[in-house]
Formats: sequence, structure tokens, C-alpha cells
Amino acid sequence: MFWADRIANEIKDSRKPKNGSRFVIRDEKTLSGRVHVGSMRGVAIHGLVSEALAAQGIENEYRYELNDFDPFDGVPSYLDAATYEPYLGLPLYKVPSPEEGFANYAEYFGAEFVDVQRKAGFFPSYYRATELYQSGRMDPFIRMALERAADVRRILREVSGSEKDESWLPVSVVCENCGKIMTTRAYDFDGETVGYACDWNPDGAKACGHKGRVAPWKGATKLFWKVDWAAKWAVNGVDIEGAGKDHSTKGGSRDVAAHIAAELFDYENPFDVPYEFFLIGGKKMSSSKGRGSSAKDMSDLFPSEVFRLALIGKDINQQVDVDPEGESVPRLYDWYDELADGVSAGKEDDYAKLFTYCQLPDKRGGFAVPWQMRFREVAFVVQMPHLSLEAEAERAKGSTITQDEVDALNVRAQYARHWIRTYAPQEFLYQVQLTMPDVQLTEAQRKALGMLATFMEEGTKDGDVIHGKLHALKEEAPIAPKDLFQAIYAVFLGRTSGPKAGWFLAGLPREFVVARLAEAAR
Ligand SMILES: [Zn+2]
Repeated sequence: MFWADRIANEIKDSRKPKNGSRFVIRDEKTLSGRVHVGSMRGVAIHGLVSEALAAQGIENEYRYELNDFDPFDGVPSYLDAATYEPYLGLPLYKVPSPEEGFANYAEYFGAEFVDVQRKAGFFPSYYRATELYQSGRMDPFIRMALERAADVRRILREVSGSEKDESWLPVSVVCENCGKIMTTRAYDFDGETVGYACDWNPDGAKACGHKGRVAPWKGATKLFWKVDWAAKWAVNGVDIEGAGKDHSTKGGSRDVAAHIAAELFDYENPFDVPYEFFLIGGKKMSSSKGRGSSAKDMSDLFPSEVFRLALIGKDINQQVDVDPEGESVPRLYDWYDELADGVSAGKEDDYAKLFTYCQLPDKRGGFAVPWQMRFREVAFVVQMPHLSLEAEAERAKGSTITQDEVDALNVRAQYARHWIRTYAPQEFLYQVQLTMPDVQLTEAQRKALGMLATFMEEGTKDGDVIHGKLHALKEEAPIAPKDLFQAIYAVFLGRTSGPKAGWFLAGLPREFVVARLAEAAR
């Protein structure tokens, strides 16, 4: 059974909506900078569970929190450190946007992330953490957590082994003097106000030294995050919320939040969907450059339906690994095409189900699956100025292509060009050398290239015919095929490897090919 349907069944069999009418599904992301594509896996898993429930006629609502109230705790490498360091420790909504036109830092990065979610076909209802706090909706939970701070400390100790001293309170105060939230310590609660000092300097944030008392309501304080998590379940009435599997270990943050929710707020742990990581080239986090690792960069490599496949194609307990700079990009397109071939052949298995879920929600009914040229072939053809994409596609298909197929081809060509310009590795780049590269050829190689020049001079030939000649030269020249192919790549590309040579030569202007071969043979 397709994983989203399996999870929908588990939910249906084990729970009733807490609000009596429809399930509430929730996910969130702290907007501390450009969002890593890994966070899109959470967006997609929650979104698919929502779609799978809806497909069974089970009402649900998907809420997504743009967390703009967590502290700004590090300057990302792509921002100017000197400009942004003074803001370290402020809540994210008080940090200025890197560009004009956005209310603050969190809104700026949130807007980019929401755009990616929409492109991927996910449309949760959004809210901000500041809305929850400033409206006063979190106040009953803040009061409970402060009054029962000793229980919070005990739960932390018992569940996760974390020791807090007796004065520790589960809130962070927004300093009335400097506005920072990461630099304060709250130490006593008298029933109406919290005493605090702005006197510690974590991660480069500078405390101002202010001491005071503040009423902890309406956004003046924020709950310690594991309590904050539990309170957000209760205040939103959350039924279903997953998280990366690193949170869902025994004694981990999810376990702590679940105990706090149960003991302090009398709230049942939402149905958990622990999921594996989205890796970039085998690594959990981006490299120092972070090239291609953001949700936006990754989404720019694929049309919606292929991007969705990257996000939802694997079961939740399997890692996803996509490397923008590796072969995994064409492989993902190949996987999509395999699913499409299966659907075209009339299959109705889990893969067909997956293919359907890859389509945007408003494009699922009764569509014809267009034939598509393989991405790696498209990526090759768009680099050959003398090849017509449509003619090559018809040749690959073996018949004329329909208007839908032309449209799909043009979309794919646009993504292929983008990939070639940005991340594609060397073996996919076919930059034909305009002058003869500096190469050393053997006597046998020169002779074979001379014979090939004569053959090419006789008239226009397609890739298959040239391919046949290359193999015939093995006896005619004679030459080992490997030596011949290496010589061809060397004189045209300045490399020792390359695409299928017959097809490659057919894609270049014939006069140019003849002249280059003849020059090499001299
Ligand atoms: Zn301060």
C-alpha cells in the first residue's frame, strides 16, 4: 500500500478528530534563513497525509506555522556578518529583511519558502508564531508552565536526563531594554510577573545587563521550545504532527513535549509521523557553500510533478538523496518517466498511485500521460545548436509527437538548460571545442579518423549510420573501439569520454566534423 494511504488508514483506525469534526494536521519551520530542502520533506509528508485522508472523504485541515518568534541565533554565510551580528539574539520578526519590500527577516525567507511549497502543490493555511503569542492565545499555557515549573524541570530530568537548576523557568523573556530574547534568564514568577536578567551572551549575542520584572503575557515571553511545542498542539487542537526522526527518539524532544502535553495541558500526543532525512549528495546538511541545498534551488531544477516525486517518492522510513551536481537529477526524471510508462501501460499498482500523487491536486482527473524524451537526451540535444529538439524527439519516439508532447518537451528543455548552466557535472556538459584541442593521437587513431572523415564527406548521415560505421572501423582501420571513441572525444570535446559518439557527431554541422577529423588525421 502506498505509504500515505497506509498512514491515513492508521489515523482513521486509531483516532477521532479532537474538535469532533475534522482532523488538524500541523507542521512548522523556524525562519532563521534560507530554508533547506529537508524542510520540504515535512511539508510534503503532512500535505500527502492530508490529501490521502481527503481522498477517503475524511475532513481535515493542514496548518503550517511560519515561526518568526524564535531567536536569530546565527548569521548565515550569504549575509554580511558585520551588518547582521548586532541583531543576534533578537526574535526573528525584529530582525530587518535582507531586501526591501518585506516586513522583517522572517517574512523575507518565509515568502521564498511559501512560493516553493505552492510550486510543489501544497497549500496549507499559514499562521505566524507571533500571532499565537501576541493575541494572548498562548497565555493560559504560559501561566500553567510557570505555575508548574517544578513539574517541567522534573519531566525534563526524568524523560531526557536534562538537569535545570531550581530557579530555571520555562520561558524566555523579551528584554524590555534591548529587545533580545536569547540573552535573558527568567528566575522567578510571583503569579503575575517574571523576574529576569539580560546577562548572558550565547552564540555571539550581546546582553545589555538590564534587570527587571515583566508580565509574561501577549508576546512578552516565549515558552522554552519543548513546552512551546506541546502548547502549540493544545492551542491549535492538533491531531496529527510528524517530525524528522531525530526528534522522535526515546528521551528526545518529541518524547519530552508529549509528556509535557499530557501532564501539564491534559493533551494527547498527536499522531506522530517520524520521517527520514532529505540528503544532499549523501550529506545531511549542506556543504559550506550550501550550493543547491535550499528548497528554492532544488525546486528550480524540476517541474512540479518531478519535484513532488523527490519529496514523496520514498516511504517515510527511507532517506531521500538528491545531488544537484550529480547524476541523481537525470535519474529522478528517469524514475518519473518509468512511472509514467507504467500508467500508460495501464498499471494500477502503488507506483501508479504514486504517479497520481505526483500530479498537482487540481490536475489529477482523467489526464493523458504524454510521451517524454529522456531528460539526459534533452540535456544533450539542447547543447547541440544544430539539432532540432522536436526532430530529435520524434526520432527517439519513433513517430510524430502530439502538441501535449511538444509542450512537455519544451518545459523539460527549459529545466535541462537551467541544470546545464548551474549544477550539471562535467560528464553532462558537451562544450564542443571551436579549435583543435592539443591532443596526442596514435598512428592508428589518426588513420581511423581519416577514414571517418572520408565517410562523413559522402553525405548527411544519421546517428545510427555513423554508429554502425564506427563499429565497422574496428576491422577496417583496424582499431580498438575504445581508442577510436577516445580519439573522437579528444578532438571535439578535449576529453576522453563523452556521449554516444554516432549520435553526437550527427548533431554537429557536417562540414565542421569533416574538417576537424581531417585536421586530426594529418
Ligand atoms: Zn537586554
